Amino acid sequence: MAASAASGRASRSAAKKRTAGQSGSLVERKLRHLGLHEPSDFIVHLPLRYEDETHISSIASLRPGAAGQVEGEVIRSEVQFRPRRQLHAILEDDSGQLVLRWLNFYPSQQKQVEAGKRIRVRGEVRSGFGGYEMVHPKVSAAGTALPEALTPVYPTTDGLSQLSLRKAIDNALGAADLSDTLPDALCKRYGLIPFADAIRVLHHPPANVSYADLIERGHPAWVRIKFDELLAQQLSLAAARAARRKQKACALDAVPGGLVQALRRSLPFSLTAAQERVIADISSDLGRTFPMHRLLQGDVGSGKTIVAAFAAAQAVSSGCQVAIMAPTEILAEQHFHKLESWLKPLGVHTVWLAGSLSAKQRKAALDAAASGQAQLVVGTTALIQEKVAFAKLGLVILDEQHRFGVGQRLELSRKGEGLQDGQALIPHQLNMSATPIPRTLAMTFFADLDVSAIDELPPGRSPVLTKLIADSRRDEVLSSVMAEVRQGRQAYWVCPLVEESEALQLQTAVDTHARLASALPDMRVGLVHGKLATAEKQQIMHDFRAGLVDLLVATTVIEVGVDVPNASLMIIEHAERFGLAQLHQLRGRVGRGDRQSICVLMYQTPLSAIARQRLRALYETADGFEIAQRDLDLRGPGEFLGVRQSGQELLRFASLETDIRIAEQAREAVNELRAHYPRHAHAHLRRWMRDKQDFLRT
Ligand code: ADP
Ligand code: MG
Repeated sequence: MAASAASGRASRSAAKKRTAGQSGSLVERKLRHLGLHEPSDFIVHLPLRYEDETHISSIASLRPGAAGQVEGEVIRSEVQFRPRRQLHAILEDDSGQLVLRWLNFYPSQQKQVEAGKRIRVRGEVRSGFGGYEMVHPKVSAAGTALPEALTPVYPTTDGLSQLSLRKAIDNALGAADLSDTLPDALCKRYGLIPFADAIRVLHHPPANVSYADLIERGHPAWVRIKFDELLAQQLSLAAARAARRKQKACALDAVPGGLVQALRRSLPFSLTAAQERVIADISSDLGRTFPMHRLLQGDVGSGKTIVAAFAAAQAVSSGCQVAIMAPTEILAEQHFHKLESWLKPLGVHTVWLAGSLSAKQRKAALDAAASGQAQLVVGTTALIQEKVAFAKLGLVILDEQHRFGVGQRLELSRKGEGLQDGQALIPHQLNMSATPIPRTLAMTFFADLDVSAIDELPPGRSPVLTKLIADSRRDEVLSSVMAEVRQGRQAYWVCPLVEESEALQLQTAVDTHARLASALPDMRVGLVHGKLATAEKQQIMHDFRAGLVDLLVATTVIEVGVDVPNASLMIIEHAERFGLAQLHQLRGRVGRGDRQSICVLMYQTPLSAIARQRLRALYETADGFEIAQRDLDLRGPGEFLGVRQSGQELLRFASLETDIRIAEQAREAVNELRAHYPRHAHAHLRRWMRDKQDFLRT
């Protein structure tokens, strides 16, 4: 930080030279760069942290790693050339000496620390060769008055000093409207202090405020700001939801005695109660005249595909087309086969669209989609390419939706936009996800969506037996693979994740395949990874499904959705490198048949206590939501929010890890505010969300 203060100073004086007298405009540009335009922007540009400049310490009491402020006399000052050019000074007080160093410096700085001068310096203390030192400390004249309060340190940008920023913010504080956007009743109920007080305290903490409360953001001023921010987020989600209800969509009523009933009759299994429930949720959504926007969560293997088939059947039976998009070609193809096997006998025309099609096949698929002849189109992101058009797209379904960006989802939906009586028609949207999102996160982050969960697995699945085995016992693992295959079953061998390099990851997969093939000579060992050509990938997956391959060596390409019920054993190498949710997904590839399946988590010794604790979560529970909660506790919410990559940016001050309780209060307050205090709600959104509404258009 001392360094950035120095560079701030340097560029300030450089800027002065460049713009000769109109440095204000440079500062203004920098401020705009930070998104600071109007007084209302400045007042909520809150300090990152605070510096305690309220007292002077003795040099002897300084500790490395901590910031300190001392005063003394410069007893030596010189420009040194070894090991590199630098300004080097020694400061002395009654208690000891401190080295001061500048690697870049201006003549003015050199003058400031000439021998014999009494100065005050502030900076971070480090252990150097010549004892304790400060590099690029902040220098001022000794003996000047000390501030009485903590000094705020604001988030800034290159070339904008804390001093200029502080001045600009102080000006804004005088000019801005600090009136409260919350009704008194609400503040009372949640024990919130007035907005104006909170803002003033945070910019200018009074002398008696606890440093810890400010830094850890537990001070009532911070609580108020976090509440405001979370409330604004909830308000805008609620507004987005309300806006969606004003949009128009085709009502896709299920025709009695039609396709949906036929599908139900033709199923080889009976649906679980949870499947029935979400199918009913979706069915009633589809019958409405505003677009559905539903998130369907269901653990791996819970049977989401058939739910998608029911939604598709309803749309098709009321004369609309359906598009289903999956993130990988393997997965999309598998969906295609499955859906076709269910729906083709009922007369539904399904086509497949992916990058790997030949030009001729592709043209046929595009024509079928554009003419409306294809009622169901299944594919990868090839679906959102420009040339793809639909005659009447009424429903879009995204599988593993968190793998797609906001833009991709929007693009697919746009393919279905049309006009009816002069009003835009928006297709219904079903998002499916096997990454269970902890309830609290789901409620806060997806408040604009309807959420359904399949919380039950199809009957007859015995839970996968999970074992933790050290890498050194590889031989035992190999024999269990042999035993399994001898009984006519199949196995997956998942290669270690190599995050640093894709090339290395690929190499590992190739090596692993070679080693296993030679260690298990009687076995048909296949290899699938992300770099294979699509046709090869399809071939190998086809062979595995058909039982022509016994052991499939794979990278995490098999993570999502692959469904081969005869596979009953999974080995995961270097399990400690994977996230829990990811391991849970992988494990979900087995346990799909009626026989006992096993998942072996191999780990490299030594395994740290924390790593062991993480892996233990996997053999302690098979419940994806529970595992997700533990992953949340261990790794924070980032993992789960792929769906709203930008959503997190909506929160600058509150954190979903520590402020769940505040988030819940804010959620509670939203409806009341919208119903009874619309003017407050409006003002609140304007204060907090002026430029950010775009994030919510997903
Ligand atoms: P996921 O939710 O992970 O996408 P799938 O839709 O791939 O799960 O379903 C997993 C397997 O379970 C598939 O083979 C599917 O046909 C089967 N399945 C789905 N629902 C049921 C059910 N109610 N009874 C029996 N098997 C089912
Ligand atoms: Mg699936």
